[in-house]
Amino acid sequence: MTTHKTWQLWRDGEMIEEEAKLLRRKAADLPVPFDAAAKKDIQTLVEAFLKRDDALGLAAPQIGISKRIIAFKIKDFDKKGVSGKDGWEVLINARITQARGEPDVMNEGCLSCPDISVEVTRPTEIKVKAVDMKGNKVNKRYTGFLARIVQHEIDHLDGRLVIDHEGTLSYPKEKKAFFDKIFK
Ligand SMILES: [Zn+2]
Repeated sequence: MTTHKTWQLWRDGEMIEEEAKLLRRKAADLPVPFDAAAKKDIQTLVEAFLKRDDALGLAAPQIGISKRIIAFKIKDFDKKGVSGKDGWEVLINARITQARGEPDVMNEGCLSCPDISVEVTRPTEIKVKAVDMKGNKVNKRYTGFLARIVQHEIDHLDGRLVIDHEGTLSYPKEKKAFFDKIFK
């Protein structure tokens, strides 16, 4: 079984420049209709997402593919893993076209920024333009917690991470020295 490594800004108390560079890059659109390479990238991301039981969502840059592909759970957020075929979605070339609703603040973590959480303020309703796994254009609307997840994943496609949001950071005491150095 292939193991998919998650790309991270830091690991074991050290910054990882090479991975950070890719995570910070603006991801490229896939060609539509998909060519063979695009289909392979989509499949790789889906497999990596479905193999995890600790992710609400995963964006292609987080596995080292700088392409606009995201996968995320759409229900059972407090359960481990993904519930069946209708428990998750994939969006390709996703862009937010409208954001509204009273901004909401919540602590967010990210697999690419381990050991840290950030209070992130986000709108509670978004409209998204994207392409689905079959290559069809879709217009989607997400609200509440799901809108937050989708915004988090689309942020990844624009090289934006939770630590770029202006909220309070939290991290464990034993990692204080390392994080104080980064976020001074
Ligand atoms: Zn993330």
